[in-house]
Amino acid sequence: MKTVVVGAGPTGLLLAGDLAAAGTDVTVLERRTSESNLTRAFGVHARTLEHLDARGLADELVATGTPVSRLRLFNRVRVDLGMLPTRFPFLLITPQYHVERLLERRALDLGARIVRGATVTGLRGDAVLTEDGAHPADYVVGADGVHSAVREAIGMPFPGKAVLRSIMLADVRLTDAPRDVLAVNAVGDAFAFVAPFGDGWFRVFCWDRLAQRPDSAPLDLDEVRDVTRRALGTDFGMREARWLSRFHSDERQVPQYRQGNVFLAGDAAHVHSPAGGLGMNTGLQDAANLSWKLAAVAQGWAPDGLLDTYQSERHPVGALVLRSSGGLIRLAMLHSRAARAGRNLLGGALLHVPTIMRKAAGTVSGIGIDYPDAPRQPDVPLPPDSRLYELLRAGRHVLLAPSAPVGYDDRLTYALNDRFVLVRPDGHTAWTGTERELPVALRRHLGPPR
Ligand SMILES: Cc1cc2nc3c(=O)[nH]c(=O)nc-3n(C[C@H](O)[C@H](O)[C@H](O)COP(=O)(O)OP(=O)(O)OC[C@H]3O[C@@H](n4cnc5c(N)ncnc54)[C@H](O)[C@@H]3O)c2cc1C
Repeated sequence: MKTVVVGAGPTGLLLAGDLAAAGTDVTVLERRTSESNLTRAFGVHARTLEHLDARGLADELVATGTPVSRLRLFNRVRVDLGMLPTRFPFLLITPQYHVERLLERRALDLGARIVRGATVTGLRGDAVLTEDGAHPADYVVGADGVHSAVREAIGMPFPGKAVLRSIMLADVRLTDAPRDVLAVNAVGDAFAFVAPFGDGWFRVFCWDRLAQRPDSAPLDLDEVRDVTRRALGTDFGMREARWLSRFHSDERQVPQYRQGNVFLAGDAAHVHSPAGGLGMNTGLQDAANLSWKLAAVAQGWAPDGLLDTYQSERHPVGALVLRSSGGLIRLAMLHSRAARAGRNLLGGALLHVPTIMRKAAGTVSGIGIDYPDAPRQPDVPLPPDSRLYELLRAGRHVLLAPSAPVGYDDRLTYALNDRFVLVRPDGHTAWTGTERELPVALRRHLGPPR
């Protein structure tokens, strides 16, 4: 069974690595011939770090960045990530290229083929078409970003609208770095956000209600300095821009993540504002949900219907991400002074209520995201010297139980435990129950024993 993944962004690379780890034949087709160092995302949230931990990559990634445990939304309204029940109670500030490098190395080490300079132009029933020829495929995953050729080829609509125009982006050096790792604020008609890459460069996003220009209008550093000063009180001695651009932010989501043997994941399936830093994270989490299901069907022990749960589990999460990042951006850009004062007062007060703070932190970090029949399974220590997310590195289900079942050692990792818990490869709980119910649960989730 051959899978072709279109796009070697973070979503496609994670997916390809997982499929290769499961022994599945996987080829990635990527238009770019080399990596770009002009990174887009720079925040990796806790749930994504848990997924990377389940692939043995989290500690290496954490070493590349700066953890932030209090996330400032605007003014004094902050979300406390430090109380999250996870090994990673923070947002990791690190450039997207660090994430992509780790995922690419892993995918190649595990045997995925990555073909660069291959621009996908369309699909045929049994193949993905590039300018140079046809690549046979039983399954195709379009992880080819916001202008997805795969989405286009299957005629999937991408409904939505632009939420914000003329956002300015600048990658700069600063003479005086901000005191907080992330500096963000909105004052009057100006909004600005500054984050470090960790190598001396900083990313600035800013927006000026009074200067709405097309994406193609030239941008100079003086304009970025001016808006930043109005929003944050200083321009931090901004100099040496290596990237200046204007962009607009859309909110769009495809209605179906699956059409026959073609799947859409990451930005190909959903886009939204950069507020909350959720785009890359959501794509990586899509990939973690889809990869083990595709591998299980390819290995022949799961029915095709398992692949439909990709839509039922991930589409609602995509819709939630659109709502939350859209809500954040609209709150940040409120027009009237009175509305902004109300937002700051109410936002600050609400986030002092522990349950509301937990909900906000859970949503933005992904830690609070459960699927209806499969809640997130937190990491647990497994005496004498292991833990659940280390066992998940085998890419298989993990059964925690007082004794090992017979006939499943090709699909299951077993660990001694008082309670019966079956954990999916993506770190969600498939089943909890009793010894009597175990054989039925194993058949339901893993097929008949060998
Ligand atoms: C300015 C900016 C800032 C952002 N900040 C954040 C942030 O802080 N946190 C966050 O989580 N997200 C952020 N995002 C969003 C994040 O960058 C994306 O959500 C993420 O890159 C999506 O990953 P992906 O793998 O789905 O798609 P992409 O990263 O877009 O990868 C798609 C890949 O497919 C390739 N491709 C495209 N078409 C073809 C074709 N026809 N044939 C072959 N290959 C093709 C492309 O070359 C590309 O390599 C930001 C985005 C922008 C624009």
